[in-house]
Amino acid sequence: MRFSKLRLNGFKSFVDPTDLIIADGLTGVVGPNGCGKSNLLEALRWVMGENRPTAMRGGGMEDVIFAGTATRPARNFAEVSLQIDNSKRLAPASFNESDLLDVVRRITRDIGSAYKANSKDVRARDVQMLFADASTGAHSPALVRQGQISELINAKPKARRRILEEAAGISGLYARRHEAELK
Ligand code: ATP
Ligand code: MG
Repeated sequence: MRFSKLRLNGFKSFVDPTDLIIADGLTGVVGPNGCGKSNLLEALRWVMGENRPTAMRGGGMEDVIFAGTATRPARNFAEVSLQIDNSKRLAPASFNESDLLDVVRRITRDIGSAYKANSKDVRARDVQMLFADASTGAHSPALVRQGQISELINAKPKARRRILEEAAGISGLYARRHEAELK
């Protein structure tokens, strides 16, 4: 699966619809402090099912919604969509009906999050599993936050093992085992 486009609408500082085209090879994002570079990475993590407000540098999940400025009112929802080139059909069967896979997450104030895959309603868990199995998940070590290297060095062994499991692409397995143990 290859990410081809990230679209943000009302997400953090990206109040107007904004497309980030992810071309083949390396994509660099440069800009002054506070222009929204880290917000882009958080949008990617969020659309893949991240549910910890702390990972989004917020106190609550609704903090990802554009909060308004002196000149623009706050928004009522935030939406991020991720376009994936699935021409190699590497997604799980239920997501595999076309070359393009479009995953959308929207959060609305007082209502919460909803997900769609190719315009069909799906559960958060389906989206999390889709990316966990592709080892690109919301907690993927491929996404390195500012300050994360020092966190990794200071992590306890159990937390460090999780990171290795995600890197090995077996975290979907871990989530399923955890669920089975709860039943
Ligand atoms: P640096 O180079 O310092 O790491 P950066 O380019 O990574 O900066 P970000 O941290 O992505 O910048 O962006 C921070 C900006 O996003 C701040 O100006 C902050 O006010 C804005 N921001 C964060 N959450 C919201 C929100 N909910 N609504 C509006 N603006 C927001
Ligand atoms: Mg930053």
